[in-house]
Amino acid sequence: MSGLALVTGANRGIGFAVARGLCEHGLTVLLGARDGSEGEKAARTLADTGGDARPIEIDIADDASVAGAAAAIDAEFGALDVLVNNAGVKYEFHPAPPSQASLDVVRETYRVNVFGTMSVTLAMLPLLKRAAAGRIVNVSSGLSSMGLASVSGSKHAQKAMLSYNTSKAAINSVTIQFANELRDTPIKVNSADPGYTKTDMTHFDGNRSPEQAAQVIIRLATLGPDGPSGCFFDNDGALPW
Ligand code: NAP
Repeated sequence: MSGLALVTGANRGIGFAVARGLCEHGLTVLLGARDGSEGEKAARTLADTGGDARPIEIDIADDASVAGAAAAIDAEFGALDVLVNNAGVKYEFHPAPPSQASLDVVRETYRVNVFGTMSVTLAMLPLLKRAAAGRIVNVSSGLSSMGLASVSGSKHAQKAMLSYNTSKAAINSVTIQFANELRDTPIKVNSADPGYTKTDMTHFDGNRSPEQAAQVIIRLATLGPDGPSGCFFDNDGALPW
């Protein structure tokens, strides 16, 4: 498979594993990082093992940075085949009753996870439309699933995190909105739940490696023409919204 992919937050964790996997699929991968030197370091690691990986500076919470990255991709490549909206933050470590949440934390989480993801999607969409078959993968979380969390007493019902879970639920809605608008185009838009993964975000307390977590994201990023759009998947299959 050839083509150009942008993975945001690709300097570490799941994003880095996704970038590595997409390189292995033969794609040229732009490793998005808000710290340029971290992006360069990560791209060099992949390039050293034969991947066509290049760093690109992008802070998804900064509209000017996002616009700059889109302009740079436009100038050098003119189109984008794959966008993986992976960059994200989670400030709550333990579940807590929503009545105890801090609105400042909610706002800061939304600034990155929700507005940042929307900003990147809007900026990159014209480039994705110029590709033969654009793919957008929004990295969500099983914790966002209203279908699972609304079952009283369920594991998901017990994992309340007002900022993070609702920010990822908003991203799922973003997935549906864009998938519907783009239904008559070759572009496919899906949400992925990578699962509980050993990264900085979980203080390395997950039950899977970033490489395992990346699998579902890579699958959705490389879907064929008959693949789904407007859906939510983890590694085992479809998840309820
Ligand atoms: P991570 O190790 O904390 O990595 C997060 C990445 O996002 C880093 O590269 C970070 O960059 C980047 N980032 C944060 N804010 C950014 C911004 N404003 N602009 C650009 N990049 C930014 O976390 P992870 O576990 O790999 O998470 C990756 C994605 O998977 C996230 O969307 C997360 O919500 C999702 N997820 C993770 C788990 C899990 O168990 N780990 C489960 C479900 C979903 P810096 O290095 O500059 O901070």
